[in-house]
Amino acid sequence: MADGGGQHPICAVTGKRIFKRHQAAAKAVGKMQKTARGAAATPNSIYQCDHCGRWHLTSYSPELTRAIQHDRRERKKTSRKRRRPST
Ligand SMILES: [Zn+2]
Repeated sequence: MADGGGQHPICAVTGKRIFKRHQAAAKAVGKMQKTARGAAATPNSIYQCDHCGRWHLTSYSPELTRAIQHDRRERKKTSRKRRRPST
């Protein structure tokens, strides 16, 4: 395995690029925004993936991203509750 080749792994669940560090993701966002100059689909925020635990870029607003993640967590909770037997 070559290291430092600049290749990024891809998340199997989201299909997005994986950043191991929040800082690296933030750097990439800054770079893309400079290049794209206001293009609609430019990623402008970062979120931690529930599936791989690493960082991904998203073009959603931070608020929307939070809402989506919250929604996912709520769904997980609901499925856990179902399994729990009543005492
Ligand atoms: Zn992921």
